[in-house]
Amino acid sequence: MRLTASICALSLAIAPALAQKSRPHHRTSTPIAAQPSTHDCGHNLSLHLSSPDPTQGSLLLLELRSATQPVAAIKATWDSREIPFWQEPKKDEKSPDVWRALLGVDLELKPENYPLTLTAKTESADEIPCSATIDVKEGKFAIESLKVAPNFVEPNPEQLARAEAERQRLRAIFATITPERFWDGSFHYPLAGVTTGGNFGKRRILNGQAGSPHGGVDFPAPAGTPVYAAQRGRVVLAEPLYFSGNTVVLDHGLGLYTFYGHFESISVQPGDLVDTGALLGKVGATGRVTGPHLHWAATANRARTNPLQLISLPL
Ligand SMILES: [Zn+2]
Repeated sequence: MRLTASICALSLAIAPALAQKSRPHHRTSTPIAAQPSTHDCGHNLSLHLSSPDPTQGSLLLLELRSATQPVAAIKATWDSREIPFWQEPKKDEKSPDVWRALLGVDLELKPENYPLTLTAKTESADEIPCSATIDVKEGKFAIESLKVAPNFVEPNPEQLARAEAERQRLRAIFATITPERFWDGSFHYPLAGVTTGGNFGKRRILNGQAGSPHGGVDFPAPAGTPVYAAQRGRVVLAEPLYFSGNTVVLDHGLGLYTFYGHFESISVQPGDLVDTGALLGKVGATGRVTGPHLHWAATANRARTNPLQLISLPL
């Protein structure tokens, strides 16, 4: 059936809406980082953004370089959210002091200018302010209308209450910034040999009701396919959820999380610290889906972002 793997749990949080006509499909595109930009903060400090004008759902890599004085701490805020920085290891005594951060742009964030404000505290206790503007552009996401069995779209009150409680739990998890950075290096695809996934940000109209945008990437794969940790992280959730079925959430530290849904079986437990490539479970069709696939998502500073960008960033 054509709907297999295309109806995914996390687009089904129902919002009341009037019946709408099917709208033309757009190609779902992975937002591509535009030209990077560099800001001179004075005092031999510079701030580098992987993109000054990202689209909704993007992940940015920020880099602060201090050529002369060592930096002891950085405090940064964007869109009323804390953006935690980490210090890169120095190559040698003479190399500049380099601090980095990941900044997530939520896929539904209103496209406009948002200031990034930052204070670098040097080891001699000077506080050096620096700021940059991030001009969020509208993402181009597909929209599709589907007709499905009514009970698929309309959970009963008990199911709704369960789904809402789980949504609140996930919100609380994603709002937690673990100060330790567990990941080290680049992120990997969660399935061996499967590098094409889609549906990120897709808006769905099911039986005339608008669902939430699809917050992750769907990788079609046969049931039983092993799913691996994209990077090192702490398991903070490993259990069945209403929409996403058997689910694993990894905390990579510094407010960065990856989410894996619809497993047939789960191989890890909450509290486990897993390495890159560790087996998390097997692809399945649990939760609100019509066929087996992996739903993979990434959240940074509470923003729902395209996990494929996590792979492409030079971390
Ligand atoms: Zn999905």
